[in-house]
Amino acid sequence: MQGSLEPVMLQPSALRPDGQPMTLGVLGGGQLGRMFVHAAQTLGFRTAVLDPDPDSPAGRVSHLHLQAAYTDEAALAEMAQACDAVTTEFENVPAQALRWLGVRRPVAPSADAVATCQHRALEKAHFTACGVPCVPYARLESAADLEDLLGKDGDALFPAILKTSTLGYDGKGQVSVARRADLAAAWASLREVPCLLEKRVALAAELSVVVARDAAGRVVHLPVQQNLHRDGILAVTVVPAPDVPADVATQAVQRASTVAESLGYVGVLCVEFFLLEDGTLLANEMAPRPHNSGHCSIDACDLSQFDLQVRAMAGLPLVMPRQHSPTVMLNLLGDLWWAGDAALPVTPPWSEVLALPGTHLHLYGKTEPRRGRKMGHLTVTAATPAQARAVALQAAAVLGLPAF
Ligand code: ADP
Ligand code: MG
Repeated sequence: MQGSLEPVMLQPSALRPDGQPMTLGVLGGGQLGRMFVHAAQTLGFRTAVLDPDPDSPAGRVSHLHLQAAYTDEAALAEMAQACDAVTTEFENVPAQALRWLGVRRPVAPSADAVATCQHRALEKAHFTACGVPCVPYARLESAADLEDLLGKDGDALFPAILKTSTLGYDGKGQVSVARRADLAAAWASLREVPCLLEKRVALAAELSVVVARDAAGRVVHLPVQQNLHRDGILAVTVVPAPDVPADVATQAVQRASTVAESLGYVGVLCVEFFLLEDGTLLANEMAPRPHNSGHCSIDACDLSQFDLQVRAMAGLPLVMPRQHSPTVMLNLLGDLWWAGDAALPVTPPWSEVLALPGTHLHLYGKTEPRRGRKMGHLTVTAATPAQARAVALQAAAVLGLPAF
């Protein structure tokens, strides 16, 4: 059962028959929810956020913040009552919450699509089913699977990475497995939860494509984004992608669109790809929502990924975004606050960064700068890719971030 009502066209800032203002809801109150709220409010919608954290970045800026668990039926009922359409800002929201809401209000993306993205094995099976190649992998979910993998001839999957099938993000829930002999210990270190064993491939580049699809099947996309990760966390995104040939970029957009179409997807979907030295393009994973790598669209495109999310869920027209400025985005992690030896966090030198031309600083309003925590991002826009890169390198130097 799809379990989602088709989005209807919601007129921005109109009133409902009951006199209430049109309201868009989001499950999850992190930075993605916050930027969604900003985009929705720009169009005159009211917003509602469901997140148990009283200090969540999106809850802070939303008209309504319901502080409750995602499985709390009373809170879900309140969401359904308050909202004219609902979306999510992360994939680990329980699919049952989306399903429950989806029979009462238009929900985009659907619970089924989110459930596919929640599970690495389902996600990869979906890529394969729609003819999109991905990294060689095997499921490791039982002692029998382990035995099977240990007994197989050859070491085709090694060196490998073992990833938990669910709840992994930013490189968490992953361990390197150099040889087959290390597999049992690696699985034990992940407490033998269901996992996926993936061949480690040599990456020439990483890229991502953000697509948006509406209920009528129209698909639009942002330009291909090239991504650099450090320690499994996105560090830098560059658009246009400097190391991605035009035919590969076209292929990536086509494949991301195919994935969305075959899911019957409504909303914003991001597909991450690996590009190998020989030009092979492999899908890595997908996210049923806007993506960290798409943040630069806020400042570099005439429609951001959050604008697309709002339009798709509200049934408003999707038009193809146009990038008006070359851009480089730097992720700003909590580590930046702990650069020196100080016992207390030190605010990074934002004024020096903002003195550079074309810098757009986005801070998410998080008060506790923990290491590895996404605190904000800096987008640089410029007239040429070379200029954007030069300023981004200057900003990185000011902040003590490595060059790229
Ligand atoms: P997450 O959900 O944490 O983003 P990913 O599967 O995207 O998980 O892995 C994070 C990063 O680790 C990737 O962006 C890539 O840099 C690296 N990585 C993951 N899988 C592989 C692989 N099979 N081969 C090479 N590098 C990989
Ligand atoms: Mg990833």
